[in-house]
Amino acid sequence: KPAVGFEGLKRISYEDIGGLSYELQRVRETIELPMRHPELFRKLGIEPPKGVLLYGPPGTGKTLIAKAVASESGAHFIAIAGPEVISKYYGESEQRLREVFEEARENAPAIIFIDELDSIAPRREDVTGEVERRVVAQLLTMMDGLEERGEVVVIGATNRVDAIDPALRRPGRFDREIEIGVPGEGDRAEIMKIHTRGMPLAPDVNVDDLAQQTFGFVGADLAALAREAAIRALRRYLPDIDLEVDEIPEDILDRLEVQSRDFRA
Ligand code: ATP
Repeated sequence: KPAVGFEGLKRISYEDIGGLSYELQRVRETIELPMRHPELFRKLGIEPPKGVLLYGPPGTGKTLIAKAVASESGAHFIAIAGPEVISKYYGESEQRLREVFEEARENAPAIIFIDELDSIAPRREDVTGEVERRVVAQLLTMMDGLEERGEVVVIGATNRVDAIDPALRRPGRFDREIEIGVPGEGDRAEIMKIHTRGMPLAPDVNVDDLAQQTFGFVGADLAALAREAAIRALRRYLPDIDLEVDEIPEDILDRLEVQSRDFRA
């Protein structure tokens, strides 16, 4: 069974994505439009994309975008992480990829999301292992075999686009590249609002100020900040709770006070 992440079962909507409006627009035009209206593309004689590469630093929302597009367009979603595909047993990695593509075809429209694509498809000259070489070859075969109807789209995510085998970036493969960068102040405020949605914040909390003070934070850091602030409030009632703590600077945490309530009530 393909592995799905923590949020895998949760429906992600476009409302759950902070910032990235231009990027999301591009992803939607590239994937959702041909998926919903294959006839338009057929009539116009243009080929819908088979692969889209999302690149940028970790925790910026690449997985989130892929899930949201799948949820919103009603596409079947299969997520795999590069390293998990690599198997030391001969032929197992290729088999795994074949299964994933088969599942997508049977459940089309479908989106296959491959996180850490560079780990299964590194530039072949950088590759020492025989497994990676065969996996790249298999992935190329599978993508070349996809029907040109936009019903199965592969979204690859990587931190470094130049680490991907160039053969995979040619037309008919991952030929669309969209950068998902670190959020600016306005985007951080939007992300913060999403992650504190429904939280009983103290009246003096100002999310815009918080956005200003969190330079360098990516979406994943802001989500961790909100989580940690909530845990702080919880701890006033349950001092002994032993929840995993993210390393958020105290002075920033002080600015996101969550009102204490007796959560057991
Ligand atoms: P990686 O390269 O590590 O896989 P990623 O870019 O795929 O990172 P995500 O998994 O999408 O990052 O983000 C991790 C979590 O951070 C999300 O589940 C979400 O809670 C939060 N997050 C990241 N970016 C955003 C965003 N733009 N808006 C709202 N939440 C975000």
